[in-house]
Amino acid sequence: MNPTAAGPVTGPAPDRSRPVPFFTQAASFEEAWPDIRARVTEVIDDGKYSHGRQVGRWEEALAEWTGARHCVAVNSGTDALVLLLRACGLGPGDEVVVPAFSFFATASSVVLAGGRPVFADIDPVTYTLDPGSAADAVTARTTMLMPVHLFCQLADMSALTRVAERHGLTLVEDSAEAIGMRWNGVHAGLLGAGGVLSFFPTKTLGALGDAGAVLTDDPRIAERVAALRHHGRTARTLAHFPGISSATELNGVNSKMDDLQAAVLLGKLPRLEGAVRRRAALAAAYTERLRDVPGLLRLPTLAARAAATEAVFYVYLVEAERRDALVSFLADHGVGTETYYPVPLHLQPCFAELGYRRGQFPHAEAACGRTLALPFHPDLTDADLDTVCGLVRRFFTGRAAA
Ligand SMILES: *Cc1c(COP(=O)(O)O)cnc(C)c1O
Repeated sequence: MNPTAAGPVTGPAPDRSRPVPFFTQAASFEEAWPDIRARVTEVIDDGKYSHGRQVGRWEEALAEWTGARHCVAVNSGTDALVLLLRACGLGPGDEVVVPAFSFFATASSVVLAGGRPVFADIDPVTYTLDPGSAADAVTARTTMLMPVHLFCQLADMSALTRVAERHGLTLVEDSAEAIGMRWNGVHAGLLGAGGVLSFFPTKTLGALGDAGAVLTDDPRIAERVAALRHHGRTARTLAHFPGISSATELNGVNSKMDDLQAAVLLGKLPRLEGAVRRRAALAAAYTERLRDVPGLLRLPTLAARAAATEAVFYVYLVEAERRDALVSFLADHGVGTETYYPVPLHLQPCFAELGYRRGQFPHAEAACGRTLALPFHPDLTDADLDTVCGLVRRFFTGRAAA
């Protein structure tokens, strides 16, 4: 858009600065494109577009990068959760304790796998599952505990591991956002029975569409997930029926990964370490600019924990007074934001039959009303940061600079 050109100007933004989208990766994608293009050509030449050679290579590369004994590629983070829960033996009516503040799939995956989500509150500073609240939610029917590593850091895994051990629960991790996060050197998703990764485009390592993976050190879980993603097929069942290619003993689904997505991810993986460092620098730059803005109730706060943890900024999330008005003001000035998550899981209409009420999880409910995520992506420039932070300051003080 050329602001000096005659004619109608879209939107009410008189601001001269360029718009700042919530997410884009066009420029940084350009850098990885030569590597990606070579692999895309291979996919076309192979003539196998799903569950082919690039997917196998991607599973190996991801296992090496994360240190997982097994990585099983599937077609989304959500499917990874459903298949992981099924592979871990979730039975009809079994309860899984999950936080009330997370992405919808944290709870829907439990229902889709045949279980029942049981909600617990979050820690108000880290937004991750509160170990005390999680312990209070355990009943005689609870078989699993599924913390979520949200936005920029791990849940409190030492305390949550103790809760799981004390109650004999299987610990699984919704680590969809947590690529690169580690606890005592162990990658997220490998701190219990298994975990997942999402490669949805906005995630720290994003594909050009949907893709996901299950991470586990347990060969039986890996084998079951590998069968479930492909209509239940395993080498073992096929061995019983010589000459037949589709006998199954598990009722699986079609959740194979596309080779084009595997090609994109393989091409981007060598730049992931750099992307993680860049995200840390961007987060620090945001905090530096926003630290003294009145009206901002909280900036991202990394918990001080005994075990050595590696944080990764997936999202830069702040808490603000008059959140919805701030979101509109920023949108009017060309700045995209995202509200993660406007409705707590226990109040989602589709879970009404679980019988939860407003007021039960005050920290989760407060976070839903006050948090917003600022633009955060690999193409963000210093000028973009100045634009966003200047506007936030102007919204609360009427002035753009301190
Ligand atoms: C993104 C995300 C998912 C789902 O991943 P998809 O690949 O979008 O299906 C699940 N849980 C959390 C916490 C997420 O952020």
